[in-house]
Amino acid sequence: MAGNVWVLAEQWRGQLSDITYEVLALGKEVATALGVDLQAVLLGHEIKDLARSLGEANSVLYLDHTALATPVPETFAHALTFAIRARRPHVVLIPLTNVNWELGALLAAELEVGYVNACKDVRSEGGKLETRSLLYGGKMEAIVNPGQSPAILGILPGVRPTDQGRADAMPPVEELTVDLLETSSIRWKRYLEVEAGDIDISKQEVLVSVGRGIQSRDNVALAEDLAGALGGAVCGSRPVIDQGWLPLSRQVGKSGVVVKPKLYVAAGISGAPEHVEGMKNSDLIVAVNSDPQAPIFNVAHYGINADVMDVLPTLTEAVHSRKEVKKHAA
Ligand SMILES: Cc1cc2nc3c(=O)[nH]c(=O)nc-3n(C[C@H](O)[C@H](O)[C@H](O)COP(=O)(O)OP(=O)(O)OC[C@H]3O[C@@H](n4cnc5c(N)ncnc54)[C@H](O)[C@@H]3O)c2cc1C
Repeated sequence: MAGNVWVLAEQWRGQLSDITYEVLALGKEVATALGVDLQAVLLGHEIKDLARSLGEANSVLYLDHTALATPVPETFAHALTFAIRARRPHVVLIPLTNVNWELGALLAAELEVGYVNACKDVRSEGGKLETRSLLYGGKMEAIVNPGQSPAILGILPGVRPTDQGRADAMPPVEELTVDLLETSSIRWKRYLEVEAGDIDISKQEVLVSVGRGIQSRDNVALAEDLAGALGGAVCGSRPVIDQGWLPLSRQVGKSGVVVKPKLYVAAGISGAPEHVEGMKNSDLIVAVNSDPQAPIFNVAHYGINADVMDVLPTLTEAVHSRKEVKKHAA
């Protein structure tokens, strides 16, 4: 009899993350196909109460320790290795976010098994697992059959709808006591809060978002013009923030802000999974990219395969002319 399917229930500062529910929904499908139970695994300190919100799982296992109060991947990997050796699950699904991006690889190394990262789906046919894993920032997809048990799989956000992984049931909860020595060479210092004072991009209805394709700080003005015409704000992908062309508070994505505007214009953004995680639920996505193969076109409702330097001023002009026509008609 194969071991269970485990989902690491990711919590951030005492709150379960949405991706936990997405991965629980996937885990349920895999567990059902394998004919085993789905177990949620909670790691942290004083987190037992979160188990109530994990009703999609058949049961919840939790490890409570002061060393798990802050997310240090090495320490989490030690704790999870201990739990896996004790309970021998067949599949371990790890939600991929900033918090545990490194966890899967550390865990697999400690257990001396393989690791399949960036999975956008997992299926099970006749007891065999098949994963679809993204490579090169989403430009290639690899089909991987993890042969070993436990199969350690890093799961990308958006794998299933969040609501599919929520259930009202109260699963049985069990504690596993773990002894953790504070041996990690990594020390947690503090949380860096996003600087206050700037606008909150999560509250904007229109966002014009720029990526590396905008090429320079000066060109960001083209996006500001369009955002101004549309009554919205400018934001960007991580490289734009890293270059200092926009403040950190304007970063969209995994390590930035999650936005859901009515309109999201992605200008010169490739559509890496970490960016898409932050904007995929926008009502209307318009992507402008000179590369017809850019993954952003997979999530966009409308795609413009052209140079942003041409398209942004053209769109701004079109919005202004439309406003003029409306003004005269009124
Ligand atoms: C743990 C982790 C967390 C991360 N968190 C985030 C995050 O929160 N947010 C985020 O955005 N990224 C994040 N990243 C980085 C992410 O993986 C990508 O590297 C990043 O999103 C790429 O940004 P980009 O699309 O602007 O740049 P690129 O991938 O370099 O894409 C630039 C795009 O512009 C197009 N282009 C170039 N010139 C033009 C032109 N003249 N006209 C039109 N199109 C043009 C190109 O075809 C290309 O598609 C994270 C990565 C990791 C590992």
